[in-house]
Amino acid sequence: MIEEENDNLAPEQDEPITPEDTQETAQEEEQPSFEDFKLNRQLLNAISELGYQKPTPVQMQTIPLAMAGHDVMGIAQTGTGKTAAYVLPLLMKVKYAQGKHPRALILAPTRELVMQIEENIQKFSAYLDVRTVGIFGGVGPKTQIERIQAGIDILVATPGRLMDIYRKGELHLKELKTLVLDEADKMMDMGFMPQIRQILEIIPRKRQNLLFSATMHERVHILSEEFLEFPMIVEVTPQATPVETVSQKLYRVPNLRTKIALLEHLFQDKETFNRVMIFTRSKTNADNVSSFLDRKGEGGVRVVHGNKGQNTRINAVEAFREGEVRYLVATDVAARGIDINDVSHVINFDVPIIYEDYVHRIGRTGRAEQTGASIIFANEAEMHHIDRIEKLIKMQIPEAPIPAEVRVYETPFEEQQLIDRELDNQRRREDPNFKGAFHEKKARPKENIGKGAKVRDAKKAGWKKTKSGGASKRKSR
Ligand code: AMP
Repeated sequence: MIEEENDNLAPEQDEPITPEDTQETAQEEEQPSFEDFKLNRQLLNAISELGYQKPTPVQMQTIPLAMAGHDVMGIAQTGTGKTAAYVLPLLMKVKYAQGKHPRALILAPTRELVMQIEENIQKFSAYLDVRTVGIFGGVGPKTQIERIQAGIDILVATPGRLMDIYRKGELHLKELKTLVLDEADKMMDMGFMPQIRQILEIIPRKRQNLLFSATMHERVHILSEEFLEFPMIVEVTPQATPVETVSQKLYRVPNLRTKIALLEHLFQDKETFNRVMIFTRSKTNADNVSSFLDRKGEGGVRVVHGNKGQNTRINAVEAFREGEVRYLVATDVAARGIDINDVSHVINFDVPIIYEDYVHRIGRTGRAEQTGASIIFANEAEMHHIDRIEKLIKMQIPEAPIPAEVRVYETPFEEQQLIDRELDNQRRREDPNFKGAFHEKKARPKENIGKGAKVRDAKKAGWKKTKSGGASKRKSR
């Protein structure tokens, strides 16, 4: 719990309040400011240098509670400003370098997120003498241990690496006063619960806890009960609602080849599509899209997925962040924790089947105080998941017809089989009595494949051919 009181910025209110004052106060209330919090001058200066004009909703709610010493459970997606919401109170509490051992621990699911949090803390503590170290797996522990030995105040860590270094006897955690769990839902998805439990065993019981999660899953609730004491709950957006500043668009695209053709068409507009993240469901599609863009796309492309080495991933993200390349292709798992500003567009090349990933994906654009755009491509089978996503986000994603200039390719036999099989599976899941319409068909003769722009079984599937041969207008749902 916070024991020290803040000594500055105590409100002074001795003068009688005039009507003008009241008006002014009302105006001030409409325009919240970081000055409203009891942050010290060094932090306020750093915030103003970062160009933050006003606190975001999660910051408005979390900062006073955390500074008052409460345990807080924050339900906030990435992009809402949640990092500053816990880092600023933390820095007020840690204040300056003291002793050798960490007094605050932030746990995060991925190395990318650890690095991003560390970077954020460095920025906010530009005028403070606070030592922050980030530790994560995938690289040797030697440098990390050396940095810890030099003395630290705030430790940012992935759970696995934290336990590795602790077991080597290189970490003293008995002086922790604050524990933050960031992206707790992802930590649980990624199976970190046993490590988190181990960590809870080895750190002091008396401490302040802050937990952040994009969603309020049942399991997050269970974790919060285990780990938080009388938490104050801050929920900035209804569960899994995409940030309002993101415009969304859906294209029904029958197959992979046409998805690529549409991508090529869209990316001709270099001015609009200047900084694009493209999400795919599989590593293979990530590689396919990136090698296509490599051949065609001007502006360079990098790809991050699970088969890429740690350094390749870090370098790829850096190159994109620095604007050296225009496109970053990523799978959902690899994209966790990547924080990049000013992404002009998020392209959902495939529809994610973990529906919350859609919310995470589009949270990459339209970050705090900016507008962004998200485009999703869906084939016939993926439309089922679009329905589910729309239920989750409680809105319909506006649909656009494939532009006339885009060639709509016929679906190759193997791909159509996969789609048909998937459609059958979906029907079967919804209706256990459904016997299945899909039959293994013999491959059509080669010469028929890839000719023309015909959409197979267009009528049956609710697809409509436009003049250009593209599909438009979904069935009324
Ligand atoms: P986060 O949700 O913490 O990942 O933050 C998303 C992005 O918003 C980060 O790039 C922050 O630098 C930025 N950000 C956080 N707070 C503010 C604010 N009050 N005003 C403008 N940008 C902000």
